[in-house]
Amino acid sequence: MDKKNIDWANLGFGYVQTEKRYVSNFKNGAWDNGVVTEDANIVLNECAGVLQYAQTVFEGLKAYTTEDGRIVTFRPDLNADRLAESCKRLEIPVFPKEQFLESIKEVVKANKDYVPPYGSGATLYIRPYIFGTNPVIGVKPAEEYQYRVFTTPVGPYFKGGVKPLTLKVSDFDRAAPHGTGHIKAGLNYAMSLHAIVTAHEEGYDENMYLDAATRTKVEETGGANFLFVTKDNTVVTPKSNSILPSITRRSLMVVAEKYLGLKVEEREVHFDEIKDFAECGLCGTAAVISPVGKIVNKGEEICFPSGMSEMGPTTKKLYETLTGIQMGRIEAPEGWIFEIK
Ligand SMILES: *Cc1c(COP(=O)(O)O)cnc(C)c1O
Repeated sequence: MDKKNIDWANLGFGYVQTEKRYVSNFKNGAWDNGVVTEDANIVLNECAGVLQYAQTVFEGLKAYTTEDGRIVTFRPDLNADRLAESCKRLEIPVFPKEQFLESIKEVVKANKDYVPPYGSGATLYIRPYIFGTNPVIGVKPAEEYQYRVFTTPVGPYFKGGVKPLTLKVSDFDRAAPHGTGHIKAGLNYAMSLHAIVTAHEEGYDENMYLDAATRTKVEETGGANFLFVTKDNTVVTPKSNSILPSITRRSLMVVAEKYLGLKVEEREVHFDEIKDFAECGLCGTAAVISPVGKIVNKGEEICFPSGMSEMGPTTKKLYETLTGIQMGRIEAPEGWIFEIK
């Protein structure tokens, strides 16, 4: 095996086409066995369900090389479960869990030369997704679907060092109560684009979304969950039915409690109490945790004591422990590491 000649450390987060992808089709009420193919393009009818009514869901995870040279992914069973929940909410036939895990294994194996080496900070990002393919013009679920998985190498998230983020409390809402905020659907991102472009134009890194019903409680950002640390070192994460259940956040809560011996709470978090927290971070597959230094609400600034130049001490311990588990430097809880072989 020959690693591709890529400048791993200087890769960004962009699409770099790799050689192989996995494809399975749903037709006549069943998913087929799926194949690994070379064709990166999709030919669809002009009236395909996904193009008209956005019937599509996705997942995101990573493969990387551990310290001892194994290629692994992190808790892909939870991606399979979450994809199933997303499918059910959008009337898409559930993709079987065993086949999901097999597809991840096959596609990573087929692109193993694109899995960045240990220590480069880069990873192979894996994108599974499903979309309605047959013509749909009257509003209803499609009858035929395609499941695909492609991979793309992505660079280290904290290139040039960690830089705490500045957030804006968005004037827009991300998710309605009883809506689709808890599933990983492209539609949640389509409607967030205007909000994030606006926030960037105003000089912010990300949006903090509040609950749409009362606009008093913290939900999440466009693509990452919140973790807060109180002054007495309790790790707090917002609880809400309209937050997307981040696998990174759920894992960090286990790390906080079981590895670091910290108190953890998943509960409603009121915007008013943010000013009393010691640290704040955003959790997701891309960065694991990005520290937040400042949150601005209609011109009023909340600055966390951890400051604008580094991660807070507890955020840093959480980050180092979870990345240590992922990279094989720290023993993982049973079932967290899925080896590709
Ligand atoms: C994917 C996603 C996250 C992060 O989830 P991970 O499983 O940790 O990658 C958080 N919020 C939203 C809205 C997401 O789509």
